[in-house]
Amino acid sequence: MKLSQRIANTKTSATIAMSMKARELRSQGKDIISLSAGEPDFETPEHIKEAAINSINSGNTKYTPVDGMVDLKESIIKKFKNENRLEYKLNQIIVSTGCKQSIYNLCQATLNKSDEVLIPAPYWVSYPEIVKLSDANPVFVETNSETDFKVSGKMISERITDKTRMILLNSPSNPSGFIYTEDELKDIGKVLKNYPDIIIASDDIYEHIIFNEKKFYNILNVCPELFNQTVVLNGVSKAYAMTGWRIGYAAGNSDIIGAMKKIQSQSTSCTCSIAQSAAKAALDNGKLKVDDMVKEYQARNEFLHKELNDIDGFNYKKPDGSFYAFVDVNGVIKKIKGVNDDFDLAEYFLLNADVAVVPGTAFGAKNHIRISFATSFENLKQAVERIKKVLV
Ligand code: GLU
Repeated sequence: MKLSQRIANTKTSATIAMSMKARELRSQGKDIISLSAGEPDFETPEHIKEAAINSINSGNTKYTPVDGMVDLKESIIKKFKNENRLEYKLNQIIVSTGCKQSIYNLCQATLNKSDEVLIPAPYWVSYPEIVKLSDANPVFVETNSETDFKVSGKMISERITDKTRMILLNSPSNPSGFIYTEDELKDIGKVLKNYPDIIIASDDIYEHIIFNEKKFYNILNVCPELFNQTVVLNGVSKAYAMTGWRIGYAAGNSDIIGAMKKIQSQSTSCTCSIAQSAAKAALDNGKLKVDDMVKEYQARNEFLHKELNDIDGFNYKKPDGSFYAFVDVNGVIKKIKGVNDDFDLAEYFLLNADVAVVPGTAFGAKNHIRISFATSFENLKQAVERIKKVLV
């Protein structure tokens, strides 16, 4: 079958591919512990489920406005005001089928062929592919663990050309888990202020999953003058354990949001009405549950940090947030016969330890693996035991 050139140029999502592989092996009877996808293991809180059931029973089962139900958009506006000190109007918000679709819509709506998008590396696996699906080119800004995998204003300015049209920022970061401080964002903002045509896409999906009382800042908190060129992307999947409900949203200037709406009107029409009611309940009244989940992630983070760093050849700094351990595994790769890179190592763990992790190369950082700790303590303990066993 002849398929499009676009498909030939697009990689399947590595996080999703690894989770599928784990699921398939499990269905064949293998006892796989999957530490691949970043998907909270907690149940969606009860009051959110109830809101969805009430929504069905009250007949909210038809198309909604393309950009989302007005009462949900009002809750999103309230959330931005109360949690982020950001002010938006209804025509500056769009609700989509997950944060991923918001990012996709944004790229489709603003990028042209050969435009360049700056992506700090390591990055979430889908950013470059979504950029390429818009015919634009990802330009990676390489970082390393010495700067906690973060970029500075200087690093960005060195990569800006007359083709640069967007920069993707993600804090806390997937996969590294580090957050940008106020000063670091100011430093980046100072550079981007000089380029009003560069869109700042701020993916804040992990904003609530932060440890040790560190604080989350959006670049607009420190550089409000960037409002016109900044699009904030977020969703309910990670914070409220609602991955399957597929609700994300974007906020930004009404021209960009209007263009995203046009794209959405020709793709999904709108997102699920019932899930939108559930998302409203999450945003209006879900913070206490989030705090409980974050406490648990933090305890797992402490556990993994100690246990994994005890293994000879594993090395990583404790992340500030998110639910990922991004581990330098160079030392282990060198020790195992037949294992030459992080892909081989992930395969080795899958086949020999029945543990699924994602190779770092998929995130733009070779010789690393990403371990998701959005799974039970019991699973993490067993996974560590299994990994230790195949490394002796
Ligand atoms: N964002 C999550 C991850 O990085 C979920 C899977 C995906 O869409 O990539 O694992």
